[in-house]
Amino acid sequence: MSPRIFVVTGANKGIGYGIVEKLASTVDGAVTYLTARDESRGKASLEKLEQSLAKNKKGEIRFHQLDIEDSNSCQKFADYLKKTHDGIDVLVNNAGFAFDNSAKESPEEQAKVTIGINYYGTKLVSSKLIPIIRSGGRVVNVCSSMGIMKDKFDQKHIEKLKNASSEKEIDDFVEEYIQAAKDNNRKEKGFPESAYRTSKAAEIALTLLHGRQYSNRGIKFYACCPGYVNTDMTNHNGHLTIQEGADTPTWLATSDDAPDGKFVYLRKPVDW
Ligand code: NDP
Repeated sequence: MSPRIFVVTGANKGIGYGIVEKLASTVDGAVTYLTARDESRGKASLEKLEQSLAKNKKGEIRFHQLDIEDSNSCQKFADYLKKTHDGIDVLVNNAGFAFDNSAKESPEEQAKVTIGINYYGTKLVSSKLIPIIRSGGRVVNVCSSMGIMKDKFDQKHIEKLKNASSEKEIDDFVEEYIQAAKDNNRKEKGFPESAYRTSKAAEIALTLLHGRQYSNRGIKFYACCPGYVNTDMTNHNGHLTIQEGADTPTWLATSDDAPDGKFVYLRKPVDW
């Protein structure tokens, strides 16, 4: 029998690294791809993980370069996976970005960069890898409870995202936010200030839309928040370890009890 193939994006550090660690130490015989946009950072992380897991490994870990914003990089990886394994079983979209609160970039710049990685990057890598996911496979998107829309966005935006029937509708939502950030009228347009919040709302909407779109292919989609985790992104203020942060995404990637088609916070479905 061919091994189960897992792919984790943005896994050279933080929660992604923790997810690879957990998968490799718990799923018998699986091959888990630790991917990173920077080859040397990715390879160094693989080496570190191999050393720390030593005899506790139940599966294999391999490195591959993957920049979720670079179409060539995503396509090259998809072609490689198809050729090497004839497909994959689980994609964990973990790669993400947030500006520090003290960032000096303009609201427009922050909107473009944050949405570029968290929404458009996730959408791009998904478009290349979903076609090679086998029936019975899964996509787990590490979103955030910051993307919960209630009381943060105008009702019209909430309805648009919750009822989205195409990626174009979600694209229109993020583009409207970017324009509002440029025009400095986010509040009047019914948006919160935070580009990160907006990018994560769009990422949740994308996950649930894909769940509806791909149900006939036997692929399940999971949107989650890992909790507040001690990583570079949170300036190490998060109270959970990366192993604890990896718990929910790994559970969704592997458990028969995982609830799909919902937004899941610390293993529990919550309203978004
Ligand atoms: P880190 O900043 O520690 O790690 C982010 C990872 O994403 C890094 O490996 C980074 O690579 C990678 N990345 C960024 N851009 C790209 C790209 N274009 N292509 C490939 N990889 C990329 O963050 P966390 O581990 O904290 O966050 C992981 C995920 O969890 C994110 O999606 C985040 O939004 C989400 N999250 C985190 C929370 C927390 O409390 N930490 C709470 C809720 C959600 P590089 O090293 O090259 O920059």
